[in-house]
Amino acid sequence: MADYQYLIIGGGMTADAAVKGIREVDTTDTIGIIAAEPHRPYSRPPLSKALWKGEPVDNIWRNTPKEHVEIHFERTATGIDTKKKAVLDNHGTSYTYNKLLLATGGSVRRLPYKVDGIIYFRTLDDYQQLRSLAAKVQRFVIIGGGFIGSEIAAALALNKKTVTMIFPEEGIGSRVYPPGLSQYLNGLYQSKGIEVLTKNGVEKIDKDGPVYRVRTTSGRELHADAVVAGIGITPNVDLAKAAGLSVDNGITVDEFLKTSNPDIYAAGDVANFYNPSLGKRIRVEHEDNANTMGHTAGANMAGGAVPYHHLPFFYSDLFELGYEAVGELDAFMDIVEEWKEKYREGVIYYLMDGRVR
Ligand code: NAP
Repeated sequence: MADYQYLIIGGGMTADAAVKGIREVDTTDTIGIIAAEPHRPYSRPPLSKALWKGEPVDNIWRNTPKEHVEIHFERTATGIDTKKKAVLDNHGTSYTYNKLLLATGGSVRRLPYKVDGIIYFRTLDDYQQLRSLAAKVQRFVIIGGGFIGSEIAAALALNKKTVTMIFPEEGIGSRVYPPGLSQYLNGLYQSKGIEVLTKNGVEKIDKDGPVYRVRTTSGRELHADAVVAGIGITPNVDLAKAAGLSVDNGITVDEFLKTSNPDIYAAGDVANFYNPSLGKRIRVEHEDNANTMGHTAGANMAGGAVPYHHLPFFYSDLFELGYEAVGELDAFMDIVEEWKEKYREGVIYYLMDGRVR
């Protein structure tokens, strides 16, 4: 049995930010973290970007404060007893809390094929596995054309690998970028030697010795030495649901990041919050939200009363191109594009009812 003033479930960027938020208010009380991974908190964005361009892995560590902070590695919380204010983990260890933070993030969506070795890219271990494969083999199939798919395809091509992308949309990032830009990105990726199979799904994957055979819905059969999938995540809400907390596309929190239980907070990818600038509830799966929301949740758990009104930004790197984005982006909105150099330098405005979102 371990007793903590503050207990955090999840050991990622949100947890790290929460510890720092707590420590700005309370420098001494105990903090416990239940972490599924075997690593202390690290920055996730470099795993699909900077680490492939020469940045050392050592730069990813978050320097989470250590004093009176205990991290329980490779443990998963299995239940919350809200009456006893206790959490049980998969080793049968029980932890009590005064304030609890759910920073449980999301789980990767998986394809329905029972084939060993497909990398559902998300964690540092996934990065290490892909990196060591990239040192040994040549042909990579990437499934998904969202953030992971587009960034990992670029990363592997920059490292001289033979890459094929498969995704259902008409263009890279086409749910977000205006159609012309998305088509331009298809061309950019092709010009870097990547085969881009748009409007395509995967019908079957099997393995012949070390070689994967990927059959696409358009009837192509691809042979690859490795398959990477980035087909989205689903928020980890099971614990919250079982504990009777309010859940609706994530764990719903109030402006102070409190769940429907006054001693339990939620933040990061898993939390569904009201954003006053957009005038609606949102759930955001990006780094700035993890950092800022985690920090605010930590400060509030320690007695602060800071409302979370932040409109998080996000960014991506696609070869020599990159962007920063804030607010709501959806290719189906009214879009105004202002280009200094078409599709390479400019500003894109997303509007609804005549107002920028
Ligand atoms: P994502 O950005 O949601 O993209 C998922 C992609 O997979 C979409 O192209 C989707 O197409 C496609 N897809 C879904 N099911 C498929 C299937 N069965 N076969 C082929 N394609 C399929 O998710 P992600 O790329 O996996 O990223 C995971 C999370 O990490 C996201 O939350 C993302 O925001 C975050 N992340 C963020 C950054 C950043 O901020 N720069 C970088 C990396 C990751 P449809 O849309 O048609 O379903």
